Amino acid sequence: MNEITRADFDTVMTPNYAPADMVLVRGAGSRAWDQAGTEYIDFAGGIAVNALGHAAPELVEVLIDQAKTLWHVSNAYATEPSIRLAKQLVDATFADRVFFANSGGEANEAALKLARRYAVDQFGADKAEIISFNQGFHGRTFFTVTVGGQPKYSDGFGPKPGMVTHLPFNDLDALGDAFSDQVCAVMVEPVQGEGGLVAGDPMFIRRLRDLCDKHNALLIFDEIQSGMGRTGDLYAYMGYDVTPDILTTAKALGGGFPIGAMLTTDQIASSFVVGTHGSTFGGNPLATAVAGRSFEIINQPDFLAGVKAKAARLFAGLVEINRDRHLFSEFRGKGLWAGCVLAPAYAGHSKTLVDAALAEGLMALRAGPDIVRFAPALNIADHDIDEGLRRFGRAVASVQLPS
Ligand code: PLP
Repeated sequence: MNEITRADFDTVMTPNYAPADMVLVRGAGSRAWDQAGTEYIDFAGGIAVNALGHAAPELVEVLIDQAKTLWHVSNAYATEPSIRLAKQLVDATFADRVFFANSGGEANEAALKLARRYAVDQFGADKAEIISFNQGFHGRTFFTVTVGGQPKYSDGFGPKPGMVTHLPFNDLDALGDAFSDQVCAVMVEPVQGEGGLVAGDPMFIRRLRDLCDKHNALLIFDEIQSGMGRTGDLYAYMGYDVTPDILTTAKALGGGFPIGAMLTTDQIASSFVVGTHGSTFGGNPLATAVAGRSFEIINQPDFLAGVKAKAARLFAGLVEINRDRHLFSEFRGKGLWAGCVLAPAYAGHSKTLVDAALAEGLMALRAGPDIVRFAPALNIADHDIDEGLRRFGRAVASVQLPS
């Protein structure tokens, strides 16, 4: 008899979540089990977090070793795991400097504050405008929901931080008129995740770089969901051949251990002088030790090539499932990151499908009401992809949708 039940959730938690109707107790690789012993194939990956699956032995080992050594000291003291991870990130990217946070939202908060402070330092307080994009998602702090392009997350909390302009994503025409020398930064996901797995058009991303250069604005890539191998590149910017000034990374960085990071250049980082920003837990030894090992595993050509091969297998299977019953109009995405777009006749029913998938033993995500999203572990076994697809096929066959 379990003492903890799913019903307890609804009595003791604030009511801002509506989790599935079971309690998960264990995970291994790309499978997880609930209290009743029901097994699930995990195509959700903790929302694009568990890049190496559940309880990855390499990460468990480093976590236990670190737990026996040093947990937390605060940023009043330096530690080896955080310096080591910062070096890994610097060596592998455009960046010279790293700030550690505990989540994606906090990494973005740091990026936005740094961009504002850098503008004040270099050009004066009037250069404060931030451009971002409709349907973008950057986190749940008040600054990051404001910069995000989804009013359902930002509205209803009173006055928002100002000087934020939203433009349509991938719309080249909208860009030209919007830019002025008042713009201090552009924040963009090279591939919009929560907004529906929409890849930035290479010409659009290139144009953002050119406009930022022209107006002395900083280009911030939010790679919190797209980074750490999700697209088959270590970071999506590498596939675009456009270099940002600031990049944020989180989610898969810790392979399930909470951590976020903001990466930038020496010159821009110089505005974060002692005391300008901080975090008690950011960069703590447990998180940075686990992330260091995770990074080491993912940042290998063979591993990243494997992501692309597994993605091809997943997308081929999805096309096959759709062959008989044309529920989906399109499969979007890059790498192991798939968006199954419901055909117009079935629009608005992604939750029905995600629920049906769960009933068949498959954990899946939504990206809004019209898209079923998959973000499985990047090392998911081929037989788990195949079994997950079989379960999804059964879910697709079983749903009754009004058309
Ligand atoms: N930015 C992007 C692109 C995201 O997808 C997310 C989370 O979904 C965030 C920021 C926020 O990250 P976190 O929930 O860790 O604060």
